[in-house]
Amino acid sequence: MTPEKLALTTNSRARKPRSDGTPDNPLAAELTRTLGHKKVLHHLSERLNYRYDAIQFGVTPLAVVLPESTADVVAAVKAAKAAGVPIVGRGAASGLSGGVTPLQESLVISFTRMTGLHIFPERREAVAQPGVVTLKVTEAAKPHGLMYPPDPASFRTSTIGGNLGENAGGPMCFKYGVTGDYVRALEFVDVDGDVHRLTRDCYDLAGLLIGSEGTLGLITEATLRLIPPPKFTRTLMSHFAEVGQAAEAVSSAIAAGAVPSKLEFMDRACVGAVEDYLHLGLPRDADAVLLVDTDGDDAEIVAAELELVAQACAAAGGTVRRAANDAEADALWRARRSISPSLGRIRPQRMNEDIVVPRSALPDVVREIRALGDASPFHLVQFGHIGDGNLHPNIMFDPRTEDTHAVHDLAHKIALVAIRHGGVLSGEHGIGTMKRDFMRDAVDPVTLNVLRDVKRALDPANGLNPGKILPDLLMDER
Ligand SMILES: Cc1cc2nc3c(=O)[nH]c(=O)nc-3n(C[C@H](O)[C@H](O)[C@H](O)COP(=O)(O)OP(=O)(O)OC[C@H]3O[C@@H](n4cnc5c(N)ncnc54)[C@H](O)[C@@H]3O)c2cc1C
Repeated sequence: MTPEKLALTTNSRARKPRSDGTPDNPLAAELTRTLGHKKVLHHLSERLNYRYDAIQFGVTPLAVVLPESTADVVAAVKAAKAAGVPIVGRGAASGLSGGVTPLQESLVISFTRMTGLHIFPERREAVAQPGVVTLKVTEAAKPHGLMYPPDPASFRTSTIGGNLGENAGGPMCFKYGVTGDYVRALEFVDVDGDVHRLTRDCYDLAGLLIGSEGTLGLITEATLRLIPPPKFTRTLMSHFAEVGQAAEAVSSAIAAGAVPSKLEFMDRACVGAVEDYLHLGLPRDADAVLLVDTDGDDAEIVAAELELVAQACAAAGGTVRRAANDAEADALWRARRSISPSLGRIRPQRMNEDIVVPRSALPDVVREIRALGDASPFHLVQFGHIGDGNLHPNIMFDPRTEDTHAVHDLAHKIALVAIRHGGVLSGEHGIGTMKRDFMRDAVDPVTLNVLRDVKRALDPANGLNPGKILPDLLMDER
């Protein structure tokens, strides 16, 4: 992300509405003519709401379409193409990498009205339109004895389209896999307005669309795999005097055969932030806290697996607390669920990194990042899905009073730590604009060119979400 994009800015170029209330630009007028007033937002006060995600403001769009069907999406794409206006697909805008912020005057296609959802229990499948809220899939599957495992912490607001756009993960993904692992088929609209149906049996084009952040096509339907939920779950919390002990405990538990369904890490600063907020009695002195679930259909095996983890934690020097029942488990998990609101009390804005490093490198990585935070003027906390080596260092800042260039520099240094330890820039939040400038550090030039070739093959004129992911393919190349 360029530093200026961090700032809470309004778009000085935002067009003013006409006094008679008619659209003030030809694209909005054409869309209103083809789709009708109810599906097109063109008033400035409405459009202003569609220029941000959870971390960043962008440029106010020319118009917003609220499609109710694939045919509406096709009509909107064709109109934007004819007008030479780029398109930004948008779900709930809970993204943490600037994926939905328009970088120039654009058409935003917001999928929140495409909420069709059908469960096919006999096939163990859900067919969902992109605007379906993630949690709704599991809620609809539950009466049929099924569940949808991908569980981003934002699952009460995030949409299936946004989850597919970012290939979202969550605490359960260590054992159960990420969004892409549950996709059997996709329907998408390409930049010309043509509709495609993809399965995954050859060339896995659906796989290419998943995690492409709306830069290759607009997903209009997904066929998702469902599974029966585990019958039993057990929970423990363990805290450690030193972060290396926590990483060692995780590695030896996994080496001993445990496959926890959730394996979450919080560093000292993160525990402190949650404790300041909720006073749960968490160990403030601990350098690291682990939260662990094991699950399965056999109570004894689930309990034995939890014991494997408990023994590994104790052997590494951790203090272990097992939840005796569901209520106690829920109380322990409250700490993890409360991270976001706790951090919101420290500063109004945060830059949420999403690096993934080999588990063996975690102790060094956590220490190096902590040292970077200590040497900076910013409050920095770390937490993440430690089973996958997925770490979320969060830089807290106030864009009104603090130097956003320095935030960007610190985020870049954190990215470089991950890369130096053999890691990658993103586990689940995507690249967007936030990490676009770091791609040159993370991906070699030859591979970067292959990525550009893929983009050119599917979107030659760079009309879909321009300026995202690829550092060399900027808006002015359109
Ligand atoms: C408090 C909080 C906790 C979070 N926890 C997690 C977590 O645990 N795991 C995780 O992975 N993420 C997490 N996130 C990040 C975010 O919620 C996810 O990235 C989520 O998948 C975004 O969904 P959305 O509907 O808000 O998508 P948006 O933010 O609206 O869009 C995300 C991207 O997908 C593209 N897109 C949207 N719809 C479509 C479509 N139909 N076709 C093609 N592209 C499309 C957009 O252009 C954009 O690039 C968290 C965010 C917050 C605020």
